[in-house]
Amino acid sequence: MEPNQNNWLRTNWIEKGDAQRIFVELKFTLRDCNSLPGVVGTCKETFNLYYQETDSEMGRSLRENQYVKIDTIAADESFTQGDLGERKMKLNTEVRIIGPLSRRGFYLAFQDVGACIALVSVKVYYKKCWSIIENLATFPDTVTGSEFSSLVEVEGMCVNDAEVETDNSPKMHCSAEGEWLVPIGKCICKAGFHQKGDACEPCGRGFYKSSSQDLQCSRCPVHSFNDREGSWRCNCEDGYYRALSDPPSVACTRPPSAPQNLVYNINQTSVSLEWGPPADTGGRNDVTYRVICRRCSWEPEECVSCGPNVGYSPSQSGLVETYVTIMDLLAHANYTFEVEAVNGVSDLSRTQRLFAAVSIATGQAGKHPCMKVLIIDNVGLLFLTSCDLSKVAAPSQVSEVIREKVQQRSIQLSWQEPHQPNGVITEYEIKYYEKDQKDRIYSTVRSKSTSATVNNLKPSTAYVFQIRAFTEAGYGTFGPRLEITTKEETTGSAAIVSSEQNPVIIIAVVAVAGTIILVFMVFGFIIGRRHCGYSKADQEGDEELYFQFKFPGTKTYIDPETYEDPNRAVHQFAKELDASCIKIERVIGAGEFGEVCSGRLKLPGKRDVSVAIKTLKVGYTEKQRRDFLCEASIMGQFDHPNVVHLEGVVTRGKPVMIVIEYMENGSLDAFLRKHDGQFTVIQLVGMLRGIAAGMRYLSDMGYIHRDLAARNILVNSNLVCKVSDFGLSRVIDDDPEAVYTTTGGKIPVRWTAPEAIQYRKFTSASDVWSYGIVMWEVMSYGERPYWDMSNQDVIKAIEEGYRLPAPMDCPPGLHQLMLDCWQKDRAERPKFDQIVGILDKMIRNPNTLKTPVGTCTRPISPLLDQSTPDFTAFRSVGEWLEAIKMERYRDNFTAAGYSSLESVARMSIEDVMSLGITLVGHQKKIMSSIQTMRAQMLHLHGTGVQV
Ligand code: AMP
Repeated sequence: MEPNQNNWLRTNWIEKGDAQRIFVELKFTLRDCNSLPGVVGTCKETFNLYYQETDSEMGRSLRENQYVKIDTIAADESFTQGDLGERKMKLNTEVRIIGPLSRRGFYLAFQDVGACIALVSVKVYYKKCWSIIENLATFPDTVTGSEFSSLVEVEGMCVNDAEVETDNSPKMHCSAEGEWLVPIGKCICKAGFHQKGDACEPCGRGFYKSSSQDLQCSRCPVHSFNDREGSWRCNCEDGYYRALSDPPSVACTRPPSAPQNLVYNINQTSVSLEWGPPADTGGRNDVTYRVICRRCSWEPEECVSCGPNVGYSPSQSGLVETYVTIMDLLAHANYTFEVEAVNGVSDLSRTQRLFAAVSIATGQAGKHPCMKVLIIDNVGLLFLTSCDLSKVAAPSQVSEVIREKVQQRSIQLSWQEPHQPNGVITEYEIKYYEKDQKDRIYSTVRSKSTSATVNNLKPSTAYVFQIRAFTEAGYGTFGPRLEITTKEETTGSAAIVSSEQNPVIIIAVVAVAGTIILVFMVFGFIIGRRHCGYSKADQEGDEELYFQFKFPGTKTYIDPETYEDPNRAVHQFAKELDASCIKIERVIGAGEFGEVCSGRLKLPGKRDVSVAIKTLKVGYTEKQRRDFLCEASIMGQFDHPNVVHLEGVVTRGKPVMIVIEYMENGSLDAFLRKHDGQFTVIQLVGMLRGIAAGMRYLSDMGYIHRDLAARNILVNSNLVCKVSDFGLSRVIDDDPEAVYTTTGGKIPVRWTAPEAIQYRKFTSASDVWSYGIVMWEVMSYGERPYWDMSNQDVIKAIEEGYRLPAPMDCPPGLHQLMLDCWQKDRAERPKFDQIVGILDKMIRNPNTLKTPVGTCTRPISPLLDQSTPDFTAFRSVGEWLEAIKMERYRDNFTAAGYSSLESVARMSIEDVMSLGITLVGHQKKIMSSIQTMRAQMLHLHGTGVQV
């Protein structure tokens, strides 16, 4: 009951530890002053909360004025004496936040200046992110940052047997609410270990993992083994090897067996050798051949290397072909040639060399050579064939080979006997191989006569044939190579079968196909489509050509959904960024797929720039990832100062991110609402001009936006407006304004042209309608189009001809342009190009933008007021105010004598202001509604209203 109460209560010193942001939760009860008799003027229903930071305990030395006030705390619920009697004490809970704190601790103090209060509890706490393991990295307990929006970046420590993925060290961000957000980078299990849950476990016996990049341990490849856990590779079995260049994942291999069927041909001091591939390549496909030449004395057989004077064609070693010619040998000398097949592990093997060999005596010019044949087969066995000098000569070449019959799978050949058989020809050998086969594998067919049919061939395949004769003296030289291609298989389409018989049909088919292709080329080229996937039937009709015909040379938008592999679309249109170039700073919003953050992008050799980073939340589905990246595939195709610019994407790390230029002032609708009434008309028209230019560019590219609205325009620090929001399913899932219509789609009704609502006819002309709504939003500083009317009423009103009235202070020319954008007949609406032209003209002649303050002398167009929603149906001023959510001013209107709607309809802006309505936004809302009402009365009842 005494006035000027000043009672203090102080806590003991509270050490704050690492915390920077402290929460104080108070529970208290408070007595209602009305229930206390005789305390008027002294009783209070609030108390004050203070704090003071200090580095140590201060005892009682702190003075009242040293405390910093946190807040005046009022009760949501107070109680009266009666309540107390019934034990109905009403407990209030209030939470206040203090920070950032910088000293070691603090005191809290409570000042009671006359309230009847019981402080029941005071809870002082801070928030932290609890230690977790994410992506194989441990993140320690982390105290949250000092401000509501700050993120604390924390480096993770790899768990045992894991290491940091190259250039991708693990990081997470601790939010102010104590939640871990935006994991970046990761650890991966080291070689020999694989991931199991949140740990790395060694690979089992018989398994290996060669690199940390591999996900799983793999079974040891063929011919290898290991008998301990945690191996990064397996050992080769005995006799098997791994070449230095072989990765641990390939089987162990061994050297090849010897070449087969070595044959020779001597031409005085040259010897040609030919052979077939080894039966066993050792499991490798890098087999080559090398030849060793040795000159031997006749008796006893002692050999020396042929030395550098002997020539080899194509070469002595590294031969891919199965033939070689050795030249410049000595006449009448005895030579031994060894042909060895080698592969990548031949030099590692210590087992015996396997080769095929011949021992030959060279002849003199004009004389028959003598030969001695020595063959060592795969297992090193030795065969010796000596020759008879009296019948030394082998048959000469087979000539004049003729293709008798060529079928799909067989070829029949015939040939002439060699000119010099040098004996009785007992057999011919036909050698052939597929011409285009990389590893040339020969097959042979033998024939006793001078013709043969080679079967089991492949259709449409080129084969090379060579034939040689055989006598007692051995094989003669192969004749020249003959190339023959087998016939095509005849399982073609009906068109091909019939076209063989009827050339007229071929011409007709080709002509029709050509025409179709041409039509597709022209229309495929000109029709750019926006929505990845739906509304394929939306864009037919002649008028589409007007909007969508693109002349060659104009860049055309490509729907990313037309790519079979959506990843390819992303990488075609968006640059892949290295996650290490991106620094996330704070969360600025919530997108459909995850947080939107701001941060910096520093590309090598470039200045760092501010960026917005859209992240894809963890646990996404493949479809969500595709839809998320679809926005980047679309945005990446655009390059215009009034269209938001894509910096790039991060798809090869987690989280998946889309990096966009940073737009400091956020979305246009919220920005305008925040700065209500603060811009000149020229500034507003400048913004509208930018949006129109961006839309002109998009429509020129054949892109239809479908959700043009101020909320989807972003504003940068220079007030430049840019069109944004290009997601795939954005209109469906992301836009809170979109609602289901009877035609099945989800549509932002207030922004959408009637034909698009009714039968999903989305065109650049429907984007023009939406642009008109954006004009209205801009000129009314973010007012909601059609205020609180229901969507159904909006659709009905538009159908009946109603159009939004001019916002307050809106130049008539601008409202006329809006009305033009809202023409029912879409062909009558201006094109974006014309809109840019009209706005440019206005900016150049600011006089055209002048309006008398408080009026908007718009002509009442028939379109505007054919039939308006029933504003006059309101029976009282109160009802009307309630409908426009301005009922708080009911008393102001009553007190000033505005009791009928007619009197309200005559009000000017000054009248509204004189009621004591000071908020500019409310003045405008009321004025706009009055203008509509006035226009309606004039039209419907012929009531002239003087302003
Ligand atoms: P969206 O998913 O595109 O609707 O983005 C969600 C929110 O993040 C938006 O409403 C903006 O406030 C913010 N935002 C998106 N992109 C950017 C940007 N490039 N610059 C600044 N803020 C942005």
